[in-house]
Amino acid sequence: MKSMTESFLQDLARLLGPAHVTSDAQTLAALATASVKPAALCRPGSNEEVAAVVRLAGEKRVPVIPCGGWTAMNYGAPAREGALALSLLRLDRMLAYEPSDMVASAQAGMSFRAFQDALFEKGQWLPLDAPEAATLGGLVATDRSGPRRLAYGTLRDLVLGLTVVNGDGVLRKCGGRVVKNVTGYALERLYIGSLGTLGIITEVTVKLRPRPETASVQELTLPDFERGFNATRELALRLPFSAATASFPGKPYVAQLGIEASPPDHARILREIEAVAAKTGASLQETGATSVDADDWPARARRLRAIQLKSGETVEPPLAARLTWPTRAGDFPAQLRNLDPLALETGFGFLMAFLDFPGQVSVELFGEAEPETSTSTSTSTSTGTNTSTNTRTGGERTPDLDALVKQLRGDGLPATVVWKAGGQALTEPIWGPPRGEWALMREIKKTLDPPGILNAGRFIEGI
Ligand SMILES: Cc1cc2nc3c(=O)[nH]c(=O)nc-3n(C[C@H](O)[C@H](O)[C@H](O)COP(=O)(O)OP(=O)(O)OC[C@H]3O[C@@H](n4cnc5c(N)ncnc54)[C@H](O)[C@@H]3O)c2cc1C
Repeated sequence: MKSMTESFLQDLARLLGPAHVTSDAQTLAALATASVKPAALCRPGSNEEVAAVVRLAGEKRVPVIPCGGWTAMNYGAPAREGALALSLLRLDRMLAYEPSDMVASAQAGMSFRAFQDALFEKGQWLPLDAPEAATLGGLVATDRSGPRRLAYGTLRDLVLGLTVVNGDGVLRKCGGRVVKNVTGYALERLYIGSLGTLGIITEVTVKLRPRPETASVQELTLPDFERGFNATRELALRLPFSAATASFPGKPYVAQLGIEASPPDHARILREIEAVAAKTGASLQETGATSVDADDWPARARRLRAIQLKSGETVEPPLAARLTWPTRAGDFPAQLRNLDPLALETGFGFLMAFLDFPGQVSVELFGEAEPETSTSTSTSTSTGTNTSTNTRTGGERTPDLDALVKQLRGDGLPATVVWKAGGQALTEPIWGPPRGEWALMREIKKTLDPPGILNAGRFIEGI
């Protein structure tokens, strides 16, 4: 792969206008993450301009990183150096919205916030937990999900059609604007979660949902993790709510349950949750929020583990790595029980696990926070539970992420390393050990991105 030349930048400026191309060091430094350090940034203003940039980059073998709100750019393996970031943010218009069909099409650079605002006016929405600055194209390319997955499914269930520019610079449409429209392969599915390695998404058509009139978040707390987990699980099997749990092994169980429904359904679901809480001895408290905040929830849980130094200063232990894997909810308690001693053995201070029902575990691993000066502390949660923190004072061991990941994979957990702090060595591949279907994926990549320029290096080996 060649690096970017001055003449390439001039060609780009001729295509898009100089105002839409930059290689300014300060602008680029502000964008850099552990995975992505672009050498230039361009902002095409139409599908045709996106296609022209990709053709030019293909000819010159310059890697291209499509980007939107830049909210998930620390995700994935490091991109090849000398890459061109291609921003979709100028493609930000609603293209067609039929409230009576509950379908909307928009350009891929439209922000999640702007899209939702347009839908809210008609009493509809896209039921995702995404950050406001995320774009529709970024949402499709990453296909992550949060607490609402339990109640509504994921974006994968809602995408009807896409327009993409593949790595050969050709604009292609797949899927359509109605629910049953496919003859042949549902090619739009290929791009969902492909992290922008097969094509640059320029337009997105999605199914919508009616926006619920009443919303509340109930926080359920039980002193015992297994009982709390089983109570949530029992409820989740029969009631539609969004849910997130944060678990520290050996600590109280806390779950947030988000109810979004019509007033009578809201009252019914709440009654059932209250009945299970009463039966299991759980405390239940309304938080005052209207949705389970996928951003604030981990931060709040992390603060429960803040450590009081002798000076009186409070420090939060440093986050060292974040892992994720699919799981069956019933396997989660045992996985957590096994993981806790493994985390300690491999030098991590403690771990915190989140379960997005029904099937995804995220684990955050922490280093020690200044162990030589720390003491134990006791923090009161909003539910009145006291969580005491005893810092281990085992010296300054560097956590061994490699050993932990190897062991997990050896135990059959297909862990992906979503993020790791600088300084953490990792020889294990972040997406997991090579699997049989990767050869087929490489063939698909070659077909849809013949020059191999789209997000080169960020996905599985060879893609
Ligand atoms: C706490 C939290 C909860 C979340 N919950 C959900 C959820 O429930 N459901 C959900 O769907 N998402 C969820 N997300 C959002 C998701 O993980 C990403 O943050 C978001 O989708 C990225 O959008 P972006 O525009 O910022 O993309 P960027 O950060 O700019 O890019 C992210 C990736 O997508 C690629 N990409 C971006 N735009 C395009 C495009 N037009 N074509 C091809 N590739 C592209 C990039 O190359 C990059 O690899 C959540 C995120 C967070 C932080």
